[in-house]
Amino acid sequence: MIEGATTIPRSEHPVSRKDISPSALKVLYRLKDNGYDAYLVGGCIRDILLGLEPKDFDVVTNATPEQVKRCFNNCRLIGRRFRLAHIMFGREIIEVATFRGHHEVEVESEENVSKEDLAKKISRQSDEGQLLRDNVFGSMNEDAERRDFTINALYYDIKDFSIYDFANGMADIDKGLIDLIGDPETRYREDPVRMLRAVRFSNKLRMQIAERTEAPIFELAHLLKNIPPARLFDESLKLMLAGKAQVNYQSLREYGLFRYFFPAVDQELTGNPDDKEERLLSIMFGNTDTRINSGKSVSPAYILAAMFWYPLEALATSLELEGGLHPYDAFQVATNDILQRAVQTIAIPKRFTTAVREIWTFQHRLTKTTGKRPSVLVENPRFRAAYDFLLLRAEVEGGELTQLARWWTDYQQSAEGKKHAYSNPNHGKPEFKSKSSSTPYPKKKRRPRQYDKPKGKN
Ligand code: ATP
Ligand code: MG
Repeated sequence: MIEGATTIPRSEHPVSRKDISPSALKVLYRLKDNGYDAYLVGGCIRDILLGLEPKDFDVVTNATPEQVKRCFNNCRLIGRRFRLAHIMFGREIIEVATFRGHHEVEVESEENVSKEDLAKKISRQSDEGQLLRDNVFGSMNEDAERRDFTINALYYDIKDFSIYDFANGMADIDKGLIDLIGDPETRYREDPVRMLRAVRFSNKLRMQIAERTEAPIFELAHLLKNIPPARLFDESLKLMLAGKAQVNYQSLREYGLFRYFFPAVDQELTGNPDDKEERLLSIMFGNTDTRINSGKSVSPAYILAAMFWYPLEALATSLELEGGLHPYDAFQVATNDILQRAVQTIAIPKRFTTAVREIWTFQHRLTKTTGKRPSVLVENPRFRAAYDFLLLRAEVEGGELTQLARWWTDYQQSAEGKKHAYSNPNHGKPEFKSKSSSTPYPKKKRRPRQYDKPKGKN
């Protein structure tokens, strides 16, 4: 029995060790054998209960990170503010966290501090209530209270395989409800990313957001402005690359969250589903889901290139017409400006912005279909993404773009096109897998010169 939690014994729940990754089981048993408490917690238990395959397995324990490290050879401690242990099993990583607690309140020693400063110091919060520090170890009860949704605060105990439910999460799983633990407004203020998580889980698990948890989102959406761009980028990938991009995108817009990710894109959207700006995003996210759900990959660069395309066109046109710039210069200036502004909100890594630029530049290069040019373009590692984007634009706009897209489709099927396409090892394969593939041209291999000494010999 654990105080504050309902215990569900093994005989009354369906979570079996067969559903759990062998690596996670090894970690749990090792901690237990060393005298520590060890639990699986969060998304993995929730997903197994819902009949889904967990994305990862998170372990929580009363051992400190240093104590965890001593139990394993294959362990790395990460994180400066809140130390976590990563136990490595080949490509699989099991994350082990120590129970998190509430923040210490030491009022007596703070006599000389002003009232407001004191309040901030105690709770380590910003003026808007956001938690800036989260580095205190605590009890299992406190750990449960600090989790976001009731369905994410279920703990599976390796000692007797029972589940501890601290916030009626089991009932909410049955009801299909996403509900925050505690007062929703306070919890969103502490960490505005929870609004994104509510949306993501609701679409992923096909569950409803409880009314009290849904209501404050509209008013508090603006708090996303305070989230570091790198974290917003990570969250945007989770929203777009998990096979639910279309519904996530729609929900983000409905809740007024989208504009804090992509302000420039949002400005071009009219809300009229027949407009090309709306159709492009809707078709692109639909295609993205289809690919992901059939086991194929989609490059974030392709998604971003599509999202920012019409804002780019609009800006380039105004630079040309109002600013008097040459079309080529207008396009370059607009490209720089759009990407520079985008990375201030979401920290798109350089390798993706480079790829986005190339996909955009390619849209012009693809209009050149004479002479030797097509054979050169087809061999370029970026051709595939650029061609896919051309197809998308053609689907949205029709007219000349459809003819151009068809020309490229036919070209690739022609003997000439095949000869070149198949000489490119990248052709047709997912791109952007590694940094090295993000260069527009394949790197030449340097042949060893005659006077190069063999490695390792003097
Ligand atoms: P998935 O891995 O499928 O995206 P998850 O619920 O496992 O879902 P993680 O980001 O892996 O999500 O987090 C693991 C657990 O950590 C969550 O289930 C939740 O208990 C807790 N957690 C994660 N992020 C937050 C947050 N922002 N606020 C409070 N608790 C959180
Ligand atoms: Mg998880």
